[in-house]
Amino acid sequence: MPNTPQPKIDVPDHVQDAIRTLLEWAGDDPNREGLLDTPARVGRAWKEYCNGYHEDPGVHLSRTFEEVGGYHELVLLKDIPFHSHCEHHMAPIIGKASIAYMPTDRVVGISKLARVLHGYARRLQVQERLTAEVANCIYDHLKPEGVAVVIEAQHGCMTGRGVRTPGVGMVTSKLLGCFLDDQSSRKEVMSLMGY
Ligand SMILES: [Zn+2]
Repeated sequence: MPNTPQPKIDVPDHVQDAIRTLLEWAGDDPNREGLLDTPARVGRAWKEYCNGYHEDPGVHLSRTFEEVGGYHELVLLKDIPFHSHCEHHMAPIIGKASIAYMPTDRVVGISKLARVLHGYARRLQVQERLTAEVANCIYDHLKPEGVAVVIEAQHGCMTGRGVRTPGVGMVTSKLLGCFLDDQSSRKEVMSLMGY
Protein backbone atom coordinates (compact mmCIF):
# COMPACT_ATOMS: atom_id res chain seq x y z
CA MET A 1 0.00 0.00 0.00
CA PRO A 2 1.75 3.18 -1.09
CA ASN A 3 1.59 5.88 1.54
CA THR A 4 0.55 9.26 0.27
CA PRO A 5 3.51 11.59 0.81
CA GLN A 6 2.70 14.41 3.19
CA PRO A 7 3.17 17.95 1.93
CA LYS A 8 6.13 19.57 3.69
CA ILE A 9 4.41 20.99 6.71
CA ASP A 10 5.87 23.52 9.13
CA VAL A 11 6.83 22.06 12.46
CA PRO A 12 6.11 24.55 15.28
CA ASP A 13 9.00 25.70 17.48
CA HIS A 14 7.70 24.07 20.64
CA VAL A 15 7.60 20.71 18.87
CA GLN A 16 11.16 21.12 17.58
CA ASP A 17 12.28 22.19 21.06
CA ALA A 18 10.80 19.02 22.51
CA ILE A 19 12.79 16.91 20.06
CA ARG A 20 15.97 18.86 20.83
CA THR A 21 15.39 18.14 24.50
CA LEU A 22 15.04 14.45 23.71
CA LEU A 23 18.25 14.44 21.63
CA GLU A 24 20.09 16.02 24.55
CA TRP A 25 18.53 13.57 27.02
CA ALA A 26 19.70 10.70 24.79
CA GLY A 27 23.26 12.00 25.13
CA ASP A 28 23.86 13.87 21.89
CA ASP A 29 24.39 17.52 21.02
CA PRO A 30 21.34 18.89 19.18
CA ASN A 31 23.50 21.76 17.85
CA ARG A 32 25.95 19.62 15.93
CA GLU A 33 25.63 19.89 12.19
CA GLY A 34 24.15 16.46 11.50
CA LEU A 35 21.29 17.07 13.92
CA LEU A 36 20.35 20.63 12.98
CA ASP A 37 17.42 19.68 10.75
CA THR A 38 16.51 16.58 12.71
CA PRO A 39 13.85 18.18 14.95
CA ALA A 40 11.85 19.39 11.93
CA ARG A 41 12.27 16.06 10.13
CA VAL A 42 11.21 14.08 13.19
CA GLY A 43 8.20 16.35 13.64
CA ARG A 44 7.10 15.74 10.06
CA ALA A 45 7.80 12.03 10.30
CA TRP A 46 5.59 11.71 13.37
CA LYS A 47 2.74 13.50 11.62
CA GLU A 48 3.02 10.86 8.92
CA TYR A 49 3.41 7.88 11.28
CA CYS A 50 0.25 9.03 12.99
CA ASN A 51 -1.87 10.22 10.08
CA GLY A 52 -4.47 7.60 10.98
CA TYR A 53 -5.78 10.04 13.62
CA HIS A 54 -7.11 12.19 10.80
CA GLU A 55 -9.30 9.54 9.25
CA ASP A 56 -12.17 7.26 10.07
CA PRO A 57 -11.04 3.92 8.61
CA GLY A 58 -14.67 2.89 8.24
CA VAL A 59 -15.09 5.24 5.27
CA HIS A 60 -13.10 2.79 3.14
CA LEU A 61 -15.90 0.29 3.60
CA SER A 62 -18.74 2.58 2.59
CA ARG A 63 -18.68 1.56 -1.07
CA THR A 64 -19.77 -2.05 -1.36
CA PHE A 65 -20.74 -4.33 -4.22
CA GLU A 66 -23.85 -6.43 -3.89
CA GLU A 67 -23.42 -8.40 -7.09
CA VAL A 68 -21.14 -11.17 -5.94
CA GLY A 69 -22.22 -13.79 -8.48
CA GLY A 70 -23.42 -16.24 -5.88
CA TYR A 71 -20.06 -16.20 -4.13
CA HIS A 72 -20.61 -17.03 -0.52
CA GLU A 73 -17.21 -18.22 0.54
CA LEU A 74 -14.68 -16.40 2.60
CA VAL A 75 -12.61 -13.53 1.31
CA LEU A 76 -9.04 -13.40 2.60
CA LEU A 77 -6.30 -10.82 2.22
CA LYS A 78 -3.15 -12.46 3.47
CA ASP A 79 0.16 -11.17 4.87
CA ILE A 80 -0.46 -7.44 4.47
CA PRO A 81 2.68 -5.66 5.66
CA PHE A 82 2.15 -2.74 8.00
CA HIS A 83 4.01 -0.33 10.30
CA SER A 84 2.74 1.04 13.56
CA HIS A 85 4.17 2.41 16.81
CA CYS A 86 3.60 1.18 20.32
CA GLU A 87 1.93 3.59 22.68
CA HIS A 88 4.19 2.62 25.57
CA HIS A 89 7.56 3.47 24.00
CA MET A 90 6.65 5.08 20.66
CA ALA A 91 8.86 2.35 19.19
CA PRO A 92 8.13 0.76 15.81
CA ILE A 93 5.84 -2.22 15.44
CA ILE A 94 6.52 -3.97 12.15
CA GLY A 95 4.41 -6.87 11.03
CA LYS A 96 1.87 -8.41 8.76
CA ALA A 97 -1.84 -8.92 9.04
CA SER A 98 -4.23 -11.40 7.51
CA ILE A 99 -7.82 -10.24 7.25
CA ALA A 100 -10.77 -12.44 6.28
CA TYR A 101 -14.51 -12.09 6.24
CA MET A 102 -17.43 -14.25 5.25
CA PRO A 103 -19.73 -12.02 3.19
CA THR A 104 -23.48 -12.08 3.47
CA ASP A 105 -24.69 -10.02 0.52
CA ARG A 106 -21.96 -7.45 -0.02
CA VAL A 107 -18.26 -7.28 -0.57
CA VAL A 108 -15.72 -4.46 -0.79
CA GLY A 109 -12.78 -3.91 -3.09
CA ILE A 110 -10.04 -6.06 -1.59
CA SER A 111 -7.57 -3.18 -1.18
CA LYS A 112 -10.05 -1.52 1.21
CA LEU A 113 -9.27 -4.09 3.88
CA ALA A 114 -5.65 -2.99 3.81
CA ARG A 115 -6.74 0.63 4.04
CA VAL A 116 -8.70 -0.11 7.19
CA LEU A 117 -5.61 -1.78 8.66
CA HIS A 118 -3.37 1.19 7.85
CA GLY A 119 -5.95 3.66 9.18
CA TYR A 120 -5.67 2.07 12.62
CA ALA A 121 -1.97 1.16 12.40
CA ARG A 122 -0.96 4.76 11.75
CA ARG A 123 -1.63 5.73 15.34
CA LEU A 124 0.01 4.86 18.63
CA GLN A 125 -1.16 1.35 19.32
CA VAL A 126 -0.99 -1.85 21.27
CA GLN A 127 -1.18 -4.88 19.02
CA GLU A 128 -4.21 -6.37 20.74
CA ARG A 129 -6.25 -3.20 20.23
CA LEU A 130 -5.14 -2.81 16.62
CA THR A 131 -6.32 -6.36 15.91
CA ALA A 132 -9.68 -5.78 17.57
CA GLU A 133 -10.25 -2.38 15.94
CA VAL A 134 -9.68 -3.74 12.43
CA ALA A 135 -12.00 -6.70 13.06
CA ASN A 136 -14.75 -4.63 14.67
CA CYS A 137 -14.65 -2.00 11.93
CA ILE A 138 -15.19 -4.62 9.22
CA TYR A 139 -17.85 -6.39 11.26
CA ASP A 140 -19.78 -3.17 11.92
CA HIS A 141 -19.62 -1.78 8.40
CA LEU A 142 -20.02 -4.85 6.18
CA LYS A 143 -22.21 -6.86 8.55
CA PRO A 144 -20.68 -10.10 7.30
CA GLU A 145 -21.30 -13.50 8.80
CA GLY A 146 -17.86 -13.43 10.34
CA VAL A 147 -14.53 -11.64 10.50
CA ALA A 148 -11.08 -13.00 11.34
CA VAL A 149 -8.00 -10.85 11.83
CA VAL A 150 -4.60 -12.27 12.73
CA ILE A 151 -1.63 -10.00 13.25
CA GLU A 152 1.97 -11.09 13.66
CA ALA A 153 4.47 -8.37 14.53
CA GLN A 154 7.82 -7.52 16.01
CA HIS A 155 8.03 -4.75 18.55
CA GLY A 156 10.99 -2.38 18.55
CA CYS A 157 10.60 -1.90 22.28
CA MET A 158 11.30 -5.60 22.72
CA THR A 159 13.89 -6.23 20.01
CA GLY A 160 15.95 -3.04 20.47
CA ARG A 161 15.78 -2.49 24.21
CA GLY A 162 14.62 -4.17 27.40
CA VAL A 163 14.90 -7.93 26.96
CA ARG A 164 16.48 -7.49 23.47
CA THR A 165 15.09 -10.54 21.77
CA PRO A 166 15.23 -9.95 18.02
CA GLY A 167 13.22 -12.32 15.87
CA VAL A 168 10.47 -12.89 18.38
CA GLY A 169 7.07 -12.22 16.89
CA MET A 170 3.86 -11.63 18.75
CA VAL A 171 0.64 -13.08 17.34
CA THR A 172 -2.81 -11.72 18.15
CA SER A 173 -6.15 -12.69 16.70
CA LYS A 174 -9.71 -11.45 16.79
CA LEU A 175 -12.50 -13.69 15.58
CA LEU A 176 -16.10 -12.60 15.26
CA GLY A 177 -19.37 -14.17 14.13
CA CYS A 178 -19.12 -17.54 12.38
CA PHE A 179 -15.34 -17.72 12.87
CA LEU A 180 -15.88 -17.46 16.59
CA ASP A 181 -18.94 -19.71 16.84
CA ASP A 182 -18.27 -22.39 14.26
CA GLN A 183 -15.24 -24.56 14.69
CA SER A 184 -14.99 -25.73 11.07
CA SER A 185 -15.14 -22.14 9.76
CA ARG A 186 -12.47 -21.17 12.24
CA LYS A 187 -10.25 -24.08 11.22
CA GLU A 188 -10.69 -23.23 7.54
CA VAL A 189 -9.76 -19.57 7.92
CA MET A 190 -6.82 -20.23 10.21
CA SER A 191 -5.37 -22.84 7.88
CA LEU A 192 -5.83 -20.59 4.82
CA MET A 193 -3.97 -17.89 6.75
CA GLY A 194 -1.21 -20.38 7.44
CA TYR A 195 -1.76 -20.88 11.18
ZN1 LIG B 1 6.47 -0.73 23.59
